[in-house]
Amino acid sequence: MVVVTKHLLDAFMACCVGRRDDYAYQRSDGRYYRAGCPLTYDVVYRHLQGVQTIGSYLIDEYGLCRFAVFDSDASSGLVDLLQAQMQLAGAGVPSYLEQSRRGAHLRVFFRDPASPALARRWLLPFCPSGVEFYPKQDALSESMPLGSLVRLPLGVHRLTGECYPFVTWSQGQFVPVAASLADMLAWFSTVQRAPVPASAPSLVTDQAAPTTPRAISFNPVARTDSAGSSLTIRDWCNQQDPVAIISRYVQLDQRGLGCCPFGAHHDDGVDTHPSFRAYYPTYPDICCWYCHVWRQGGSLFDFLRYYYGLSARDLWSHILAGGHF
Ligand SMILES: [Zn+2]
Repeated sequence: MVVVTKHLLDAFMACCVGRRDDYAYQRSDGRYYRAGCPLTYDVVYRHLQGVQTIGSYLIDEYGLCRFAVFDSDASSGLVDLLQAQMQLAGAGVPSYLEQSRRGAHLRVFFRDPASPALARRWLLPFCPSGVEFYPKQDALSESMPLGSLVRLPLGVHRLTGECYPFVTWSQGQFVPVAASLADMLAWFSTVQRAPVPASAPSLVTDQAAPTTPRAISFNPVARTDSAGSSLTIRDWCNQQDPVAIISRYVQLDQRGLGCCPFGAHHDDGVDTHPSFRAYYPTYPDICCWYCHVWRQGGSLFDFLRYYYGLSARDLWSHILAGGHF
């Protein structure tokens, strides 16, 4: 048994625990069940000892989050997220790689609690395609009172019986950041927490004053698409999976319905009844979303332009530079 002091637990929990007044535990089938009671040191201790495995709800009881997770289930997950880690580092955002059952997680620990909406607008542009991003919601709601959860690191996965370490890329391979559990816990007091930006882009309306230009990280490698500079916005839209990309920004049900992320034209600035629909366009049409209240829709390009408050020119430059959404 490892000697785990309260001091070590504090550093670990400050990084990896969201909600404190509730959590979820993993059963042997791999699924998580809500505990319905506060997360105590004792529960975290048992998680670290492999006795019980728990998941933490990212958004806390005040509606804020202290970390974000990129979650890749692909076998190439570590390599894919290593690339995202380098892009984040280029934008001054430290992040940490963790092995997972099927792939990898990349975690960003925040210096200060942030609203989930801000965290998503800030970090989603770094999310590679096919990778899930947490927090999944912009805010908690009546229909989603707890939001999504992620496994607390360093526990034992109930399906595999394995524990997955944080790793770094060193001399051509991924190596654990520490050799023992106690050292891995001590490592948490050395991690760098990312400063949260004061704001992130929001929808620019015709009446609004220009917002601060968004600092999107550009992939250092220029796009080497065979279409080269002749690629058009229409071509690009046709090459994307619009519903998959939009579902990263909007919680969609099976019919593609969700709450509109462009709040301004909804009562109180928030769409509480799902008014937004994402769908697959019928070629050659590229429109793929529509808000019934706004009575407007558009292409995936339009969606991203509104979402990030970017000019068409800036968004297109970002796409040509290999930006991810
Ligand atoms: Zn709307």
